[in-house]
Amino acid sequence: MSKLKKLLSKLHISTQNFLGYPVSKDFDIDEVLPFFQYPINNLGDPFVDSTYGVNSNELEREVVSYFASLFNAPEDNWWGYVTNGGSEGNLYSLYLAREKYPEGIVYYSDSTHYSVRKNLHVLNIPNITIKSQPNGEMDYQDLHQTISQHRNVPVIIVANIGTTMTEAVDDVSKIKAVLKNLAVQRSYIHCDGALGGIVNAHTPNAKKFDFSANVDSITLSGHKFIGSPIPSGVVIVKKANRDRIALSISYTGSLDTTITGSRNGHSPIILWNALQQFGEHGLKRRVQHCLNLAEYTLSVLKNNGVEAWKNPYAITVVLPPQPKTIQQRWQLATEESMSHIICMPNVTKEQINDVVNHIVNHGNLTFPEKDTNFTDEFSNTSNIFHV
Ligand SMILES: *Cc1c(COP(=O)(O)O)cnc(C)c1O
Repeated sequence: MSKLKKLLSKLHISTQNFLGYPVSKDFDIDEVLPFFQYPINNLGDPFVDSTYGVNSNELEREVVSYFASLFNAPEDNWWGYVTNGGSEGNLYSLYLAREKYPEGIVYYSDSTHYSVRKNLHVLNIPNITIKSQPNGEMDYQDLHQTISQHRNVPVIIVANIGTTMTEAVDDVSKIKAVLKNLAVQRSYIHCDGALGGIVNAHTPNAKKFDFSANVDSITLSGHKFIGSPIPSGVVIVKKANRDRIALSISYTGSLDTTITGSRNGHSPIILWNALQQFGEHGLKRRVQHCLNLAEYTLSVLKNNGVEAWKNPYAITVVLPPQPKTIQQRWQLATEESMSHIICMPNVTKEQINDVVNHIVNHGNLTFPEKDTNFTDEFSNTSNIFHV
C-alpha cells in the first residue's frame, strides 16, 4: 500500500472511535470539494477587498455576520474574521485588549486553555491566574480579592464559555459584579467560547455571555461543534477596538487588521456551507442531541457505579482518570485528576454504551483518594450548580 493510502485508512479507523475531543465528524464535504482546485486567499481584512481577486471574502463576511448577530454584537460597532482556530482568536482578542489598555493586567482561571497562557507570553502582558472552583468555573472570591490589590490598573478578563476539561462556564454577570463592587473603571472582557460558544448560544436558559452582557470580544472554533475538516475559528470584536490597530497596506490594497496576512479562503466556504446546511433549526437540534446524550451518558455511568458528573448545560461528562488502554481506544483526553467524554453531534448511544461497558469492566470507577471531597461535592451536581 502506498504511504498515502495507508494514512487514509488509518485516519478512517481512528476517526470512528473518537469520544474525548470536541470534533464533529458528520460534515458533508461534497459541495466544497471543487473549491480545492483554486488558490483561494482572503488576504487582509475581509471587509476591505484587496487586489488579490481569488478570495471568498463575501462568504467570510456572511459567516462573521451570522456570529455577530448570534452573539448580539452592537449593530454599528462590530468586526470579525475567520481565524485558523480558537487559539488565534484568543491571541487577537488579547492583542486588541493590550492596545486598548497597554498597562492592563489579564486575569484568567487556572482551568483556562493553554493557548491563553502562551498568547500572554507572546504579547508580554502582565497576568495573574485565578483559582477555579472544583467544577472548573472561576472562583469569583479569589478574583475579587486579587483585583482589589490592583484597583488602579485596567482589568482584562478571559472568561471561559466552556473550559476544555469540564466545560465550565464563567459567569460574566458575576465577573461584572466584582468589577462594579471594586469600582473598576477600565475593563475589557474576552470570552473564550471555542467549544461552548455555539452550544451555549443555542441552549435556552444557559448563562448569558454575549455582547448584550457588554463583553468586548468572543472567539470560537470552527472545527469543534460545527465540524469543519480543517481547523478554523471565528473572532468577533468591537470595531472601535479593531480600528485602533488598523494599518493600510498599499502592496495588497487591504487593511492589515488580522494576525496573518495571507489567510485560508477555504475555511469561510466550509463554514458558510455548514451554516447553510444546518440552518438555525439544525444547529438547535444538534445542540439538543448533544445535551440529551450527555444526560444519558451521565446516567448510564452512574447507574453502573462510575463516579461521573457534569456541569449544567454541558455536553462534556467528567469521569475518573482512565487507564491508558481505555484512553487510547476512545481517544479520551485525560488529565491527572479526570478523563472526559464529549457528546458531540455525531456520537451515538451505541458508542456510549460501548465505552461505558469498557470502563465498567476494565476502567477506573472512582476518583483517586485525594479527591474524595471533590467527588462528594459532585455526587449531586444538579442541585449545586443549577441556578
Ligand atoms: C479548543 C479550545 C481552544 C483552542 O482552540 P483551537 O481551535 O484548537 O485553536 C481554546 N479554548 C478552549 C476553551 C478550547 O476548548
